[in-house]
Amino acid sequence: MAKEDYYKLLGVSQNASDSEIKKSYRRMAMKYHPDRNKDNPDAEEKFKQVKEAYEILSDPKKRAAFDQFGHAGVDPSMGGGPGAGGESFSDIFGDIFGGGGGGRQRSSVRQGADLQYNLDLTLEEAVAGTEIKIRVPVMVACDTCDGTGAKKGSKPVTCSTCHGQGQVRMQQGFFSVQQTCPTCRGRGQLIKNPCSKCHGRGRKEENKSLSVKIPAGVDTGDRIRLAGEGEAGEHGGPSGDLYVQVRVKDHPIFVRDGANLYCEAPISFTIATLGGEMEVPTLDGKVNLKIPGETQTGKLFRMRGKGVKPVRGGPRGDLLCKVQIETPVRLTKEQKVLLKSFDESLKEGASRHSPKSHSWFDGVKDFFDKMI
Ligand SMILES: [Zn+2]
Ligand SMILES: [Zn+2]
Repeated sequence: MAKEDYYKLLGVSQNASDSEIKKSYRRMAMKYHPDRNKDNPDAEEKFKQVKEAYEILSDPKKRAAFDQFGHAGVDPSMGGGPGAGGESFSDIFGDIFGGGGGGRQRSSVRQGADLQYNLDLTLEEAVAGTEIKIRVPVMVACDTCDGTGAKKGSKPVTCSTCHGQGQVRMQQGFFSVQQTCPTCRGRGQLIKNPCSKCHGRGRKEENKSLSVKIPAGVDTGDRIRLAGEGEAGEHGGPSGDLYVQVRVKDHPIFVRDGANLYCEAPISFTIATLGGEMEVPTLDGKVNLKIPGETQTGKLFRMRGKGVKPVRGGPRGDLLCKVQIETPVRLTKEQKVLLKSFDESLKEGASRHSPKSHSWFDGVKDFFDKMI
């Protein structure tokens, strides 16, 4: 790139103040901004040069080096040159290109804020879906002043600085720059006597009642978006959105994992041994679960289709029930005697009645034998 005098590039004198340099840079950068010069291929190069010039001249150290040594003093290849930590592009252009679009009044029309509502649901509500009424604080037009912000009987007056445009043109050298009107801050109107209820804001907070349909199958972390139900926009801007953030409360019996539900059920030693039936709760009511004989503790029984139908589609999940054999407690003397005699009866065929214990003890014995 041809080395040009940075001052010349920015169209300022060598004694220019920092604010003059910044002003000039904005003007030039806006003029050569690639978005505005789609038909001018040279503009981008010029834009880069202007940016480089500003990066040097806006930094007192680099500017001094440039003044003294010219380009050699600030050449990037000599270290510490431009781009090493310059102000980012968006910082500088925030108030010029901000908001996008090219509308005349764009800075006065603002979209309302998005709102979030945290919704706690029971597992049953989340699985079956429900309809809830929620109250959301929203900004609505003030009814005392009809949203104008001006006291009853008075009216906002047209801003005399910008004549209601909200923007002013500033002549700077050969260029004219459009800026947000400093007097009315872009509104185009001034309120001499502000409304006492909303203090001139034209809006007030109100609770809005909303009926929200929660689809079946939602889970913790799901968000439901209600377009346009957020905060009202300012000066006729569009409303924001309302997000309902779902959290499913812990359930005393079931734990959910995606489409599946898990539960634990205690069974008696006798049912586990001889087999039988037991009642198991599901979200649709009780069902009878067949326990086969010789069931070991911790066994997981799957009940197909007794889980959750996912909100994003797919088959309904299963209910997985883990049985835990409950050790009898608080036995009477007689019961203890019975149990002992029963235990005695098992000893004769220990390898047959308790194959697990048997092989485990064998393994432990081998282990100790090897240690010696
Ligand atoms: Zn008001
Ligand atoms: Zn104005």
